[in-house]
Amino acid sequence: MASTNEITVESIVKTYGLRHKIVAIDNVSLSVEHGTCTSLVGPNGAGKTTLLKVVSGLTNRYQGKVSVNGRVSLSPEVSVNFQFMDAVENILYFSKVVDREIDPTDILKKVNLLLGKQQVYSYSKGMKRKLDIARALSLGAKSILMDEPFDGLDPGASDDLVDIINSLKKEGVTFLVSSHDLHRLTDISDKVVFLKKGRVCGLRDLRVRNTLIANFMENSVLAADLLEQMGCTITNTGKGELHFIPDPRLKTWEIIGNLISNGVKVTGVYNETLDSDYRRIYHGNLD
Ligand code: ATP
Repeated sequence: MASTNEITVESIVKTYGLRHKIVAIDNVSLSVEHGTCTSLVGPNGAGKTTLLKVVSGLTNRYQGKVSVNGRVSLSPEVSVNFQFMDAVENILYFSKVVDREIDPTDILKKVNLLLGKQQVYSYSKGMKRKLDIARALSLGAKSILMDEPFDGLDPGASDDLVDIINSLKKEGVTFLVSSHDLHRLTDISDKVVFLKKGRVCGLRDLRVRNTLIANFMENSVLAADLLEQMGCTITNTGKGELHFIPDPRLKTWEIIGNLISNGVKVTGVYNETLDSDYRRIYHGNLD
């Protein structure tokens, strides 16, 4: 079945300020497929939150086009749930706002938040994030946008959130997430968009998981020729390093053995990760 995009962002430009304009988003386009998670990564000020605000409709002063299929719900860095209500009262309130009939128990089960009468002000950060997702489901959102969802969560709470997001993806919920937590993003993301000064400066499809990085003392050109002859696809080249997708018929040791026996001085081989992507994109190396 052909994949459908739940979110499409085309040539977005968003500025702040009147006299001294800050260009927060500078000609960004991206799409998020149904039932997948795309993550936004980048240093502070790269434009991640601004892009989430644009997609959620929280700000409408921008250039470009945003198309969303159905409702989207934003889980901002600071919780917007009613602090002096419990979880059931919160989600019943939000479902009524959009005139939907919901089964609160069913929704709270999906986010692993089965509580009695505990009011939200006493929730842990992890519980607040779960309630954000429950709120989105009670609103009937097809896409959930999350800004720094793992911020301040302990490892157990982060694991829980990863499981909830992954099981909702299987039910067809779509996620657009901003985070600095590259390890957790690896667990939930299908695609990662790297932003720098409001522009897209890199893309990674995590569904293609077998990209390798090889480091060389010298002979990178010879290495590239040999890799291509072996049917590998080179995806990136840097000083003394090559990123490549191996031919699936070959084992890694066969590829490296062939390079070495042809005189290439290989100093290391490892799997490409979001950390190595981050260092290459923002720091220009892979130390
Ligand atoms: P962080 O990782 O720190 O959350 P971010 O990638 O989410 O950063 P944004 O918060 O979107 O980045 O900010 C992008 C740029 O827009 C920054 O230069 C920031 O200073 C600026 N900016 C964001 N919000 C406003 C605002 N309300 N008024 C003026 N400038 C803003």
